[in-house]
Amino acid sequence: MTNYYNKDLYKILEVNYDATLNDIKLAYRKLVRKYHPDAAGSSANVVKFKEVQEAYEILSDENSRKKYDILNGYYRETIKKTYTKNQNVYDEYIQRAQKHSQETASFSKSINDALDNLFHVQKKTSKRTKEEKKVINGEDINLDITLNCFEAANGTNRKVNILHTQPCPNCGGRKFINEAECPMCKGSGQLSLQKKINVKIPKGVSQGSKIRIKKEGNKGLNGGKDGDLYLIVKIKKNQYWDTEGMNILCNLPITPAEAVLGTDINLKILDENLNVKIPPMTSSGQKLKLSGAGLYNKSKTKRGDIIITVSIKLPEIISPEEKDLYSKLYKNADNTLRKDLNNAK
Ligand SMILES: [Zn+2]
Repeated sequence: MTNYYNKDLYKILEVNYDATLNDIKLAYRKLVRKYHPDAAGSSANVVKFKEVQEAYEILSDENSRKKYDILNGYYRETIKKTYTKNQNVYDEYIQRAQKHSQETASFSKSINDALDNLFHVQKKTSKRTKEEKKVINGEDINLDITLNCFEAANGTNRKVNILHTQPCPNCGGRKFINEAECPMCKGSGQLSLQKKINVKIPKGVSQGSKIRIKKEGNKGLNGGKDGDLYLIVKIKKNQYWDTEGMNILCNLPITPAEAVLGTDINLKILDENLNVKIPPMTSSGQKLKLSGAGLYNKSKTKRGDIIITVSIKLPEIISPEEKDLYSKLYKNADNTLRKDLNNAK
């Protein structure tokens, strides 16, 4: 290979060091015409013609021009434009280029090998630098939160234990460094952090509601966004209370006497005292509805209902006096209640 690296190719082509590809093409055409062996007159010059061709071959190809520029110190005019986006990469690039340039000179290695080595090293370096700086967004975390009906209706404050994970800052989440297990994360690619946070549950959440807590998900890396935490509401029912969408369901036990005579029952839900009127002669299974007293929708523009299902229950213990009263009722019982029980019609 010709020792083009020792010559000033820009001078040969009569262009500036920051010449564009178009400048180089124009200059080349002009000089080829001038020095072409077929050219008329004494301007024909085989040596010059070859030089121009060589110079053009190198400077018109982006990669070989870069290689040439670095080794000859012309990179400031051409390479800088490409690499200044990242100053660190650029500086490292230049240092390596200069080092290799010196090494090449002192060991008299094949210049072409040196160039290839240089670019091999550079390629690896910029790839690694890019990977280390890779922006990784943190993932969202979904977590179930169990509330009773009153907490769902009235809202509450909760302490929540969460396990944040974060991509390992040492290996960037890749688990291995130079094919060896990363010592910081022990090859898992991530680090975990237990955290307790206080969460305010708004009032009126329903089964399956998602409560979003910003930036409490898994952590991002290298400027990546932190994920969000989503609490998914599970409402647990008990013997009296359950929910169905925005409705609150109440299973309301009453005594036989209350069923016959009717009564007023106080319900305390959603910070409100609600008076429920059980009318006289109410049977088990009868439903009462308190419209607009249930849970809120997400935008708090609508409210469900409270739906009460009455069930007549006996007290667990009955006093002798009560038993006496029941026996009087029994004697006066009207059996029309079951008048058709054994009648097939
Ligand atoms: Zn690691």
